[in-house]
Amino acid sequence: MYNTNFINMKIAVAKGDGIGPEIMDATLKIFSAAKVPLEYEFVDMGKWVFDKGFSNGMTPEARLTIEGLGILFKGPMETPKGKGVKSVNVTARKTWNTYANKRVFQTLHGVDTVFSKAGIPIDITIVRENIEDTYGGIEHMPTHDVALSRRFITRPGSLQVIKYAFEMAKKKGTKRITCGHKANIMKLTDGLFLECFYEVAKQYPELKSDDVIVDDLCMKLVTRPDAFDVIVLTNLQGDIVSDLCAGLVGGLGFAPSANIGDHISIFEAVHGTAPDIAGKNIANPTALLLSGIAMLRHLGLMEQAAIIENSLLYSLEQGIHTGDFGGKETRSKNTTEFADAIINNFGKNPEHGARPVLSNMPVTATMFKLDHNPMLVSKEMDEEKIVGVDMFIESAEQPEVIAKKCQRHAGVKFNLINISNRGTQVWPTGSVYTNLVNQYNVRFESIDGEPLNQQDVIGLYVSLSGNFKICSSELLNLFGEKKAYSLAQGQ
Ligand code: NAD
Repeated sequence: MYNTNFINMKIAVAKGDGIGPEIMDATLKIFSAAKVPLEYEFVDMGKWVFDKGFSNGMTPEARLTIEGLGILFKGPMETPKGKGVKSVNVTARKTWNTYANKRVFQTLHGVDTVFSKAGIPIDITIVRENIEDTYGGIEHMPTHDVALSRRFITRPGSLQVIKYAFEMAKKKGTKRITCGHKANIMKLTDGLFLECFYEVAKQYPELKSDDVIVDDLCMKLVTRPDAFDVIVLTNLQGDIVSDLCAGLVGGLGFAPSANIGDHISIFEAVHGTAPDIAGKNIANPTALLLSGIAMLRHLGLMEQAAIIENSLLYSLEQGIHTGDFGGKETRSKNTTEFADAIINNFGKNPEHGARPVLSNMPVTATMFKLDHNPMLVSKEMDEEKIVGVDMFIESAEQPEVIAKKCQRHAGVKFNLINISNRGTQVWPTGSVYTNLVNQYNVRFESIDGEPLNQQDVIGLYVSLSGNFKICSSELLNLFGEKKAYSLAQGQ
């Protein structure tokens, strides 16, 4: 459980690579001056750990420490290029199921943007799903010309992050919560996420819930950012939209990020290691400091969080800045001087957006000593049956030639329904103007909708493999009356 004794609360800290140690030292110096009652256990993660031969970028001791303490405060970390290793940042988020990535984007007075100059206030919280989507990184090249990525959107995964977003919006006193999506095109994946959104929305009638297609959302965010409060999105769309929002409030130097899970949470800045300015003591620590402030609130350290945030906001209002922002007429401060200025301004309140200094509150105790992996499975509501199969085959032949060969394999259980290429139907109808690549999807369905079993499908697979390289196959399932597969464009 989180230790609710404020004297001894301990968290794991990883300073990171590049500018990481500089901005982490500055942030911890501010924490120390504000008498933040935390102890730190420094853990080994990042590029130098990869370089020592640890393929996931962290030592086993670091993993155990983080799992024991439940909180990781981290600086940015570099993923070595061209070594085939995966990002330690993404590994950490996924391994510990920090399913909700919360990023707050607020107008900061003293940080000039087109919106601040126009007097348009911004206070947007993006909640991005943090585990699934194409970030599973499950990719294959079935032919020399074709690269495929699997996009996982799951009901339990979507419900976890959406419930978090609604609960957070309610606590924050938000009026509106919006789901950004592309369900008009990705009807099953984004469709499932959107369905979960409205399912959860029913439990929060006091919040205005709506949805916006993600491209329209981007346009609206740059024309009317003040119209949005909390926005929840799938992983990749959330990644892109949150950087757009960072741009609205002054750039990545001001974008904090909290990766929230049921057991372990990670707090970090959105920006990377900034290798171009590393080691010069000129980096802007604001994003990491804001992430740290969010962490203090997460731990119930409301008083220290407010004192530090008020001082930061006051300092920005006074025109105190690092080299990456602010007026050219005032000398920019280096990282250490910027931290010292914030410490000197403790106790001062900003003119805009002063935070009330609340008493510290014990955090809700959370069990995080697990002895088995949590299994998230929804109750099956509908009868499930197999009604066909999509066979993805490699071929550079014309569609009608492929159709003739495939029909010979259909046997007594299957009908050849259609053939598509990159999702566009090319047989039995299609256009000669559709360009083709060397992977086709050949769709077989059962005759008269009769349910099939896996042996039927394997029989077809074996037969078809005599003529084609089968790259992969997907069962066509019916859940009740609902087709659990998409139709080809033009089908
Ligand atoms: P970056 O965010 O490091 O840098 C982009 C630009 O912003 C650079 O010009 C940099 O100088 C500037 N910048 C970033 N943070 C700043 C700060 N605090 N103060 C002043 N200027 C700042 O992005 P990148 O160059 O694409 O990535 C560099 C490395 O960081 C890569 O190895 C990448 O994998 C890694 N990365 C890590 C994380 C993370 O740890 N969460 C996130 C993004 C990128």
